[in-house]
Amino acid sequence: MGDYSSSRRSVITCKAVVCRGPDQWKVEEIEVDPPLASEVRIKMLFASVCHSDLLFSKGYPLPLYPRVLGHEGIGVVQSIGENVKELKEGDVVIPSPIGVCGECENCSSGETNMCLTYPISFAGLMPEGTSRLHLPAAASSGQDGGGERQLLYHAFSCSTWSEYLVSRANYLVKLDPAHDLPLPHASFLACGFSTGFGSVQVEARVRKGSSVVVFGLGGVGLGAVAGAKVQGAATIIGVDKNEMKREKGEAFGITHFINPDQYPDKPISELIRDLTGGHGVDCCIECTGAGHLINQALDSTKVGKGKVVLVSAGQTNGNLNFLSLLMGRTLKGTIYGGIKPRSFLPYLLDLCKREGIPLDKLLTHEIQLEDIAQVTELLKRQDCVKILIKI
Ligand SMILES: [Zn+2]
Ligand SMILES: [Zn+2]
Repeated sequence: MGDYSSSRRSVITCKAVVCRGPDQWKVEEIEVDPPLASEVRIKMLFASVCHSDLLFSKGYPLPLYPRVLGHEGIGVVQSIGENVKELKEGDVVIPSPIGVCGECENCSSGETNMCLTYPISFAGLMPEGTSRLHLPAAASSGQDGGGERQLLYHAFSCSTWSEYLVSRANYLVKLDPAHDLPLPHASFLACGFSTGFGSVQVEARVRKGSSVVVFGLGGVGLGAVAGAKVQGAATIIGVDKNEMKREKGEAFGITHFINPDQYPDKPISELIRDLTGGHGVDCCIECTGAGHLINQALDSTKVGKGKVVLVSAGQTNGNLNFLSLLMGRTLKGTIYGGIKPRSFLPYLLDLCKREGIPLDKLLTHEIQLEDIAQVTELLKRQDCVKILIKI
């Protein structure tokens, strides 16, 4: 620890949240390597908790341990590789899980954010297949008997719950120094909120006057609600079992709230049809990751043209209702709401300011990095939306 100014090209020892098994995480000392030629090392300022971190900790989609968690956050460039031209030390940046090459088939198509050259990493490694994060030799030796450093997996290619991280430069979003949104709010836009917003605007292309239902009003769902409002949707229904989400939903733009627990004898799709003249909505954004809700999501939308966008990772534990889908509906999955972070996040930051989107209402809890153990308990609280981690 201490003064890092002389260590731009050397390994940094710092603190990070290391996950060693399902739900086993704590702050440990790790080593963060200097950036390779096209990479950047960042000193993190703030991070936040997003649903995928909890899935990673449980070993989804792969049991990669030990691993440094976190994929939402904001920090300052500490050192850059020799090929990095667009960033300099001191720039404020948001790490993102998706890179953009601008040239591959998918980037050229303009139809998707799934770059084929710099894809999202589920292998927990940097794009070229190695890690910049390690447990120091002393900490590793007890486990493998040797004196070697032990590889730590990244969360995507990020790992924001750490004092330092390394990212490829083209996965980073530079913040305009003139932007004056509080940095914690910008951290929330790193994944969850933007994913919800993009799922409405980019994936579903919701139009003015249309009707939208959002399943699950966490950080992602509230982003979807805000997106629907900005797009001019006339009816925005929020569905959540947590009654405290009613007020949150209203702050971001819902026109109706359904707590399905209050109607134990009625399927959610029927409740939504009741609210929409029997026809259902134009679009459903599914943010819960609960597989059994996919059929309810389909049946909530209009025959012939209803769209369902699956936003949250999860697992199906039931059969897809084939007939519901055959009736002219569309079921679409999305990673990161279809957005290309480098162009979309600056636009969204600006839009949030212009439209007065109340990002401050997302922030419900703040902790220091060393108090990370509190996250599990905080997430159980009814009033919890976003937890900010001060680094
Ligand atoms: Zn590409
Ligand atoms: Zn996320």
